[in-house]
Formats: sequence, structure tokens, C-alpha cells
Amino acid sequence: MLLCPACRPLPAAALGLAARRRLPRHHGNRRAALSPAPVAARLRSAAGSGEAGGVLRHLLLKLRSTGPVTVAEYMREALTNPGQGYYTRRGGVGEDFVTSPEISQMFGELIGIWYLSEWMATGKPNVFQLVELGPGTGTLTGDILRVFNQLAALLNKCDVSIHLVEVSPKLSAIQAQMLTGGKVQSTPENKSSYMEGISKAGIPIYWYRDIQDVPQGYSFYLAHEFLDALPIHKFQRTEKGWCEVLVDIDPEVPDQLRFVLSPSRTPATENFIQPEETRDHVEVCPEAGVLIQRLACRIEKDGGAALIADYGHDGTKTDTFRGFRNHKLHDVLKAPGTADLTADVDFSYLRKMAEGRTATLGPIKQREFLKNMGVDLRLQVLLQNSRDSATHAQLLHSFDMLMNPKKMGDCFHFFALLPHHRLVHPTKKDSPQSKSPLPPVAGFGELSLK
Ligand code: SAH
Repeated sequence: MLLCPACRPLPAAALGLAARRRLPRHHGNRRAALSPAPVAARLRSAAGSGEAGGVLRHLLLKLRSTGPVTVAEYMREALTNPGQGYYTRRGGVGEDFVTSPEISQMFGELIGIWYLSEWMATGKPNVFQLVELGPGTGTLTGDILRVFNQLAALLNKCDVSIHLVEVSPKLSAIQAQMLTGGKVQSTPENKSSYMEGISKAGIPIYWYRDIQDVPQGYSFYLAHEFLDALPIHKFQRTEKGWCEVLVDIDPEVPDQLRFVLSPSRTPATENFIQPEETRDHVEVCPEAGVLIQRLACRIEKDGGAALIADYGHDGTKTDTFRGFRNHKLHDVLKAPGTADLTADVDFSYLRKMAEGRTATLGPIKQREFLKNMGVDLRLQVLLQNSRDSATHAQLLHSFDMLMNPKKMGDCFHFFALLPHHRLVHPTKKDSPQSKSPLPPVAGFGELSLK
């Protein structure tokens, strides 16, 4: 057995589970009675205890032959291992955690309005792509498409297409059912997408495994609770300097995993820790950084915008790595592949990784963003249009879930990438000394559809 004798075990308390963020499932139907949208697909639990073996067995073999792995490698295996990963087999949305779009149609509708407002503010180009990363059940894109459909007169000369980046075969099948009624086909090997179909309203939809496969062009990008699922590295400051937290086999308990510290600096400690870092424990998600670089390059070159919504912080938090199973916190090292693993998004890191190629806005709290987008008015309209008291109660409950600071209102944030010219006030182009305020960007300021 090739164990790393110099690795120091970390006491569990040193990596204690952080506060819950993803929320337990609410009761009842998310939809208002008069909504034309179908009830969100619900997933049934597929993870019996027997499934736990897959990822764990694979990891134990790997750890025995090559020694401890980084937390990022552990997370990648647990979540997206092609045969046994959590997202590959189980999916999670609705059964282990619930997300804002699954709680209320208002959420996706207001995001749909956000994209339309940006499209209008940039001169209504006659072609645009909506690109969603990690679409889950497809509910969010479905709600956005319903808004586009209701405002079809506005978009009538515009060629819209949908591009979904999804690694999970199970979830892409659910998305296909939700968005096309199952009318999809696999695409030939030589195409960049792996599946394509047509939405119920006739909009083409394509599926990809990686953002790099999505065609270039004026695009609106959306990542809702996606970045928190990407693998993180964890680092601990010690007397010897920065060390990386690794995952290893516990020598005292058969087939059990434990955290250890690398004996010295690693390539990751050299590359990912900022010299000015003041925290003692840091999580870095390089895949999120690379993704932001790619989005910023695309937006700089082709125009469009990216909206990123997730729980997170602005470079202040330390240990946020946690697991969820059946709406409860789950030990991240137990039964990998059967629970969702997640870490808070560091928005200060995302801002840095945009490298000034685009302007960035936020993070702004979910309740402020939705308020600026007119969620109060939308709630009133839905309440007026519904006649039964159960729907009323449901609407008020879901509004509270989204907006209450103690629920999702304060811990979820919105962050945007926009072309620099979008934030230059028209009068400033001609007279840079002008003191007129920046043009409002919906959500981050007041919504104005002109
Ligand atoms: N956005 C949805 C689902 C969030 S769960 C919602 O808010 O309800 C995370 C989603 O990202 C799932 O669809 C999962 O399969 C997908 N995913 C996770 N890692 C991925 C990766 N590396 N590449 C592409 N998709 C990924």
C-alpha cells in the first residue's frame, strides 16, 4: 500500500460541516394554478445503499496505488465519475436539495426578463443564443422560454437558440422531456453537441458536455447553482507555510476515508494562493476560474452577458465544503457518489478571473436582485389571477422562501459579466466628463425596458 507516511491526519473538527445552504424541499406544487407551465419533474430516489460501493471502491484502489488525492479530484470522482458519479446516476435536484427555480416560476420568469432587458439595451441583435450551464431538471430554461414565448411579438425577428451544457445523461434525459416532450435525437460524432431537439414552441435546443463545444456568437450565459458543484482545492496555513488538504484512507478503519495535510507545499499551493491572502483556510475552485475566463473572452469578443447565481461570499469565508443527501447534511467523506457535494462560490475570485475583459456587477443578494426585477408586482399579478386559497398560500410560501433573508434571500447572490461598453453612459461617449449616472442594468439597479 502506497500511503503517504508524512501526511498529517486532520481532526474532523478542523473541517467541520458548515451551515446548510441548499434548502429542504418545500411542500406542495411550485406552480400557480393559472400558469400554463407543467408541474416540475420530480425525481425518485435511485440511490440504494448498495450503490455506495462504486465510487468508493474506485477511490480506494486509486488511493492504495498512488497515495492521497486532492479534494478537487475526490469531488470530481464523487460528482461526475462517468459511471458512478452523483450527478451521473442520481441527479439530486428535488430529492437531496431544492433550488430557487424549482420553488417558484417567478424566479425563472424574472431571469427571462433580465435577458430580454439586456438584449434590448444592446440594440436587439437579430440572433442570440441562451446558454445554460448545469440546467438540472430544465425548469429554469423552461420558465425563461415561456417568457420568450409570451413576448414573441418583441422577439419575432430574432433567431433564438438554446444551448445546454450538461454532463449527466440522466439529467439531460429529464431536460429533454421537460423542454421538448422527449422529441430529441443524438447527434453524429462529428458534431459538437451530443443531442438536439426542438422546444415545444419551436426553438432549437442543443446539448453539450463542455462550454468549449458551444458555438461562439452573441450569447446570454446562465449558471444557477452550477459553480458550487465544481471541484475545489482546500488549503491550510501551517507553521511550515501553506499545505493542501488531501483525501486518504484511514489506516485505523477499513475502507474509511479521512482528510490529511500534504507534508509540504504542492503545485496547487504555489499556483492558487494569493500572496496577500490573510485567511488560514482557503478554498479555490480553478474550474470556476477557467470558466469565467472563457465566458469573459466570449463576451468581450461577441457581446452578450453572463448571469451567475449561487450561494457564496466575497473572499471572506474559509471552510464551506459540505454534502447533502435526502435534504440533510451528509459527511462529505461517507459513501461518495450518493450525496451532493458543494462549496460556496468565491465571487472575489470570479471577479479576478474576468481579468478586466468584461465589466462585473455584484454579487448582490437574491432578495435585492429579485426586488429590483419586480418580484413584488409579479406576485400580486399571480395572486390576482388565482382563485383558490391553496394556490394563494403556495405563492406566498414560495415568495417567502426566495426572499426571506433567513431563507434564500440573503445567502444566494447574483453576479454578472457585461461588455464594458454596456456600462458607458451614451452621453459619456461624447463628453467623458459628464456626471450623469451609469445606465441601469436590470436587477443590479431598477428595471427599465426601453
Ligand atoms: N441549475 C439547476 C441545477 C443545479 S445542480 C438548478 O438550479 O436547479 C448542478 C447541475 O450541474 C446539474 O445539472 C449537474 O448535472 C450539472 N453539472 C455538475 N457538474 C458539471 C460539469 N462539470 N459540467 C456540466 N454540468 C455539470
